[in-house]
Amino acid sequence: MEFRDLKLQYAHLKDRIDEAVASAIASGSFIMGPQVLQLETQLADYVGAKYCITCANGTDALRLALEIWNLGPGDAVFVPDFTFFASAEVIASVGATPVFVDVHSDTFNISADDLESKINQVCREGHLTPKAVVSVDLFGLPADYQALRKVADRHNLLILEDAAQGFGGSVSGMRACSFGDISTTSFFPAKPLGCYGDGGALFTNNSDWADLARSLRVHGKGTDKYDNVRIGFNSRLDTIQAAVLLVKLDAFRQYELHAVNEIADKYTSRLKDLVQCPLIPQGFQSSWAQYTIQLKSADQRALVRSALSCKGIPTMVYYPRPMHQQGAFRHLHIADDACPVTSHLVETVLALPMHPYLNSSDVDFVAEALHEIIQP
Ligand SMILES: *Cc1c(COP(=O)(O)O)cnc(C)c1O
Repeated sequence: MEFRDLKLQYAHLKDRIDEAVASAIASGSFIMGPQVLQLETQLADYVGAKYCITCANGTDALRLALEIWNLGPGDAVFVPDFTFFASAEVIASVGATPVFVDVHSDTFNISADDLESKINQVCREGHLTPKAVVSVDLFGLPADYQALRKVADRHNLLILEDAAQGFGGSVSGMRACSFGDISTTSFFPAKPLGCYGDGGALFTNNSDWADLARSLRVHGKGTDKYDNVRIGFNSRLDTIQAAVLLVKLDAFRQYELHAVNEIADKYTSRLKDLVQCPLIPQGFQSSWAQYTIQLKSADQRALVRSALSCKGIPTMVYYPRPMHQQGAFRHLHIADDACPVTSHLVETVLALPMHPYLNSSDVDFVAEALHEIIQP
């Protein structure tokens, strides 16, 4: 059994993907070929945003957003303590200061209450100006934007939705990548919508920011690419990757998103009396980038992991360390108890195999193995 079986997905989509890639190569338009614009149009339409600008990866998409907003030294940007490093890395890379916020123990997403208290703390200390929050849609589930928007409005913060894992998730029919003032996603192969290499995209309803993103991704171009009006990046999505994504987006919309939700429901119904299963609040839908259970302790997790591994069941720990304890942020001198929920989660979370082509008997096999290993 594979943790996320990309080879099996390819086997299902092989004819269409091979044809799309071959035709992109035959056209010779390797950079910004017509498939890129076609993909951007379909993505914007799917998520319900006015503009989509693709780029080289999800980290660049976040970085572009912070550059568009001109954030830098002296600015505080809030980010969950429980996330992938890139969400916080980009804040430091533009010279702003990441301020880590705790998460909810049942949804794994940023707590609006702790956001408010961390904003107040920054204001009291008086060294930094609160400017934005990077709200991560962790493991496929959108954050609580209703609550976040209230806090953000009260303190005049911009919301940058990091939907690298959240693509396809929704709240009351509104899709992830439409909740932020700018939203971003990643097409890293293992994400809900992945390509065959690196890729990313930025979404917004603001036409000035969309124009800036288009300029920044090609060396700060002005009217043409040899007219450079600002310092930018080289961050485009390859035509070949766009061609792959057009096929994959179709499968994602047609049945993959539905399939992962069926698998998640099955896991939850088999495991809910045994371990803590992920909570999907009323009205929310996840795209299940991960299916993450919680065990009682680090010791129990280690035992369960190795017993599952003996049965050929791969698992992963996302994430084993809070952001505030990463070596790269040591100079910020953040107290050990700054985000107690995150400190607990890093010891107890365990992600189970999850992908749209996981069959029902594999889910049974994993559930039965967990029942054998864990004595309730
Ligand atoms: C994967 C990921 C990113 C970065 O995306 P890349 O395409 O790998 O650069 C950013 N944030 C989160 C939450 C991610 O999971």
